[in-house]
Amino acid sequence: MRRVSIFGATGSIGQNTIDLIARAPDAYDVVALTGAGNIAQLAADARRLNAALAVTAHDHLLDDLRAALEGSGVEAAAGQDAIREAATRPADWVMSAIVGAAGLAPGLEALKQGATLALANKESLVCAGKLMLATAQENDARILPVDSEHSAIFQALIGEDMAAVERIIITASGGAFRDWPLDKLAHATLEEASCHPNWDMGQRITIDSASMFNKAMEVIETREFFGVDPDQIEVLVHPQSMIHALVGFRDGALMAHIGPADMRHAIGFALHHPDRQHLPVERLDLAQIGSFEFRAPDEARWPALRLAREVMARGGMAGAVFNAAKESALDGFIEGKLLFPQMAEVVEDTMSQLNSDNGLIDATMTLDNVAQVDHLARQTAKAVIENKAG
Ligand code: NDP
Ligand code: MG
Repeated sequence: MRRVSIFGATGSIGQNTIDLIARAPDAYDVVALTGAGNIAQLAADARRLNAALAVTAHDHLLDDLRAALEGSGVEAAAGQDAIREAATRPADWVMSAIVGAAGLAPGLEALKQGATLALANKESLVCAGKLMLATAQENDARILPVDSEHSAIFQALIGEDMAAVERIIITASGGAFRDWPLDKLAHATLEEASCHPNWDMGQRITIDSASMFNKAMEVIETREFFGVDPDQIEVLVHPQSMIHALVGFRDGALMAHIGPADMRHAIGFALHHPDRQHLPVERLDLAQIGSFEFRAPDEARWPALRLAREVMARGGMAGAVFNAAKESALDGFIEGKLLFPQMAEVVEDTMSQLNSDNGLIDATMTLDNVAQVDHLARQTAKAVIENKAG
């Protein structure tokens, strides 16, 4: 039996992971499931999968979790330290699907114990890519990408020599506002930004898709994970979300990965790697689909893409500033303090205030230093947001 843990089990990626695992319950020994606010789901899944441990991120929900698990034999715990401790419990395969920078510390713990880390939490690589990769290497642990574009790149690279790679193209649907007139973006509502044309995902990544902050993070994720130069990474708007990424080789060949917009493919690939096993996803009928559409991204519509280039050019811990500013700006938009286009302004202002602080950004990348940069960037972004809102 493979020992598995799922961090962010109650979210969109977590639930898709559980869907796959629950189809073969005898194959898996579930060590830990974690969630935050959704205690009912966390407890129901922990019971159903017979997990050893269930953890909520919220201390004040410990009693509720205990009550929901009563008589099940599942251990209950609460708080960020408990989530981190759960990641030290021996497991063969760990899904990292917490949303935001909170996913970094448990991901590092899982790598330290040598587990295979299925990484949906792209924030870990944006904030601390070098630390993640070094920790994996030191502990002989493997990171497998779950983000659909990165899973696609990984699959297109199987059996290939990285030296022959000329470029990597990641596709973007363009999100909810792909075809909106630019002057209408300032009036975009939370509800409109929370609807994705193709993918069914958590609210935060859905809004990040509309602003292209998701793609900006994925460009940085590509650089960190595959070690290519920033100018080898291209973004291509592809409204159907069926080609997830393409790898271009020096002989001019482009290897594309095509599949339905269903995260169970990338999750299942990471779960069964290096095998390919049957997955319950739609088989595409290309004759029925007829054609694929592509466009160049419009940087005036999506300034986040330019900011990602600035992060990569700056280096050091600029990614942690970018991510924290983005998370704060997203909170500001969700709370109604910011207009949709102001999110990018907040990130840009925060970056320009902090990126000149060489002592901060160029310090050694450790978990503590990343946390310090994250904290300062959130404080700075908060002041920028208050300024705009006031
Ligand atoms: P969701 O918002 O659906 O789920 C997030 C999960 O994290 C939930 O289990 C949530 O608990 C938990 N959580 C929230 N805040 C905290 C916290 N502070 N500490 C610990 N746990 C917390 O997100 P998604 O599943 O959409 O995304 C998860 C990650 O995967 C993100 O990094 C995202 O970018 C990435 N990703 C997602 C894709 C998708 O299709 N959804 C595609 C590619 C990448 P609760 O719900 O109980 O409050
Ligand atoms: Mg993606």
